[in-house]
Amino acid sequence: MYARLVRLAIALALLGSAPLIGGLVTARPTSAQPAFTATATIGVFADFARQVGGARVEVFQLLGDGVDPHEYQMTPSDLVNVSRSQVFLYNGLGFEPFLNQVFQAMPPGITRVALAEGLPTLTVDGAPDPHLWLDPQLAQRYVERIRDAFSAQDPAGAAEYQANAARYLAELEALDRELEAQLADIPPAHRQLVTTHNAFAYFARRYGFAVIGAVLSSEAREPSPGELIALLQQIRSAGARALFVEPQFDSRQVAQLVEQTQLRVMPLYSDALPPDGSIRSYIDMMRANARNIAAALR
Ligand code: ZN
Repeated sequence: MYARLVRLAIALALLGSAPLIGGLVTARPTSAQPAFTATATIGVFADFARQVGGARVEVFQLLGDGVDPHEYQMTPSDLVNVSRSQVFLYNGLGFEPFLNQVFQAMPPGITRVALAEGLPTLTVDGAPDPHLWLDPQLAQRYVERIRDAFSAQDPAGAAEYQANAARYLAELEALDRELEAQLADIPPAHRQLVTTHNAFAYFARRYGFAVIGAVLSSEAREPSPGELIALLQQIRSAGARALFVEPQFDSRQVAQLVEQTQLRVMPLYSDALPPDGSIRSYIDMMRANARNIAAALR
């Protein structure tokens, strides 16, 4: 922990060296120079930011694909990238436990945009569930907030952000209808989700599923032996057919549960895009989720 703080301090000291930063900025060709830089915490929000920002906004993704936000710790090079930004996009509602560290370290004057705070939430594990973007209708609220934040940051680009957002919002609307149709013919008795961590309440509400349980809590806390036994009983009494495994977690308890239940295992994506680069966008991620749920539960 101490070594990490020292590295952060060194990174900040380097950042304060104006000639270095000035040199980096002027080295860029004028024609390709974006209006500003935005940092987004996870790949899904970075995708939203690129959709809205187009060529006018340089987008930096703080957490690499496959990184679990519940466990992430900031590195000095991450801080350098955050500090180059004018806008910082994050979910809020406790989704990013590292936020305090980032806010303390980053220079003042960077606009902070909480994408989910203030939207109506569901309570999961005794706290507001932060995973609102897994409902494509709520994902649209995120895109609108990014559009408004970018327009305020760069008024000259407002018409472009407006047009980009309108196009992308229509795509999300179409995605929502596509998922609804794809998931519609799963029999009512099969409409049960058991996942690695408790992230699918909004998705389940939107498409008519019941979340039977999750191995890890909404904040990715590991279960006690008692909680694991209770989950096993819930799975058996509900007659759940599949366990949906989120690749960003490497959980011993998940492997144990798979062994004990003999459930069909399917991947499902929530907080992180897969590290192998096979899925690069929110829309493709949601399509993969619907495809895997339909394949496992029909
Ligand atoms: Zn999560």
